[in-house]
Amino acid sequence: AIPLVVAVSTSIAAKSGLLIRDRQAFERARNLQAIIFDKTGTLTEGRFGVTDIVSLSGEENETGENLKDSNERILSLAASLEASSEHPIATGILESAREKGVQTQAVEEFSSIPGKGVQGLVDGNKFLVVSPGYLEENGIALKNQKIEEIEAQGKTVVFLLEESKVLGAVALADIIRKESREAILKLKSMGIKCLMLTGDNRYVAAWVSKELELDDYFAEVLPHEKAEKVKEVQAEYITGMVGDGVNDAPALAQADVGIAIGAGTDVAIETADIVLVKNDPRDVVDIIGLSKKTYSKMY
Ligand code: ADP
Ligand code: MG
Repeated sequence: AIPLVVAVSTSIAAKSGLLIRDRQAFERARNLQAIIFDKTGTLTEGRFGVTDIVSLSGEENETGENLKDSNERILSLAASLEASSEHPIATGILESAREKGVQTQAVEEFSSIPGKGVQGLVDGNKFLVVSPGYLEENGIALKNQKIEEIEAQGKTVVFLLEESKVLGAVALADIIRKESREAILKLKSMGIKCLMLTGDNRYVAAWVSKELELDDYFAEVLPHEKAEKVKEVQAEYITGMVGDGVNDAPALAQADVGIAIGAGTDVAIETADIVLVKNDPRDVVDIIGLSKKTYSKMY
C-alpha cells in the first residue's frame, strides 16, 4: 500500500502541475545534489527565429539584388531540406521561408543526421544543413569573420552545403525562458549544482551559461553521448536531469531523477519519472521541497 502522506503529496503535486510517475524517484528528489538541464526547449523556449543569412559561396562583392537572390536561394534550399525535420531549428527556418514568401522545392532521399543536421537531394544534387561540428569533423575549413561575430552573439548557426561546398549559413536565435533564471538561483541557494547539456555549439552554450550563472556546461554533445555525461556527473553527485527532446530520453532514464518538460516529445515524457505539466523549470524547486516535506514526515 502507498503510505498516506505519499498519496496526499502526489495529489498535491498533481494539483500544482507536477505529474509524479515514479514514486521512488520522487523520494530520491530530496537528496539531489546536481541537476543537469538540457538547453533547447528546457532552459530556453525552443522557438528559433532566423536572424541572419550569410552567403558563403565565394562570390565576393555581392550587392543589392544579387545578394537578395543568393540569400533567398539559401533560405529556399534550407527550408526544402528542413521540411521533413521536426527539430526546433527546422521549424524556425520553415517559418522564416513562409514569412518571406520563399518557395521550397521537392527533396528526395531525405535523411537526418542525429545531433548534426539533415540531408537530401534537390534536382538530383545533394544538399545538407548541418552544425559547425559537422564541418569540423569532415575537415571542411571555414574561416569567416561575419560568422564568428554572429556566433559570439550567442546565436545558433547552421550551414547549407552542396556536397562538401559551403553555400551559406543561417543564424537563429532562441529565447531563454524567463523562469529559468529564478529556478537556477533557488537551486543554487539550496546548494545544488546546476549544469547544462546541449548539442548546440560552444558559443551558444557559453552565452546561456553566463546569462543564467550556471556552475558548468557541456556543449556539442551528440545524442548518444548525453546519457554518458549524466553518468559522469553521477560519479560525484546524486543527479537529476531535466529535458524535453527525443534525444534526452536515454539521459532522463539514466539520471537518479528524470524530469520532462510537459510540452516536450512523447518519448521524453514516457521516459521521465516526473513531468512538469506547466513547462516551468521553477517547478523543479517545488519537487525537491515537496519530496523533503513528504519523506521527513515518514522517517
Ligand atoms: P539540442 O536539443 O541539445 O539543442 P540537438 O542534438 O537536437 O541539440 O542538435 C544539436 C545540433 O545539431 C544543433 O544545434 C544543430 O547545429 C544540429 N542540428 C540538429 N538537427 C538539425 C536540423 N534539423 N537542421 C539543422 N541542424 C540540426
Ligand atoms: Mg531540448
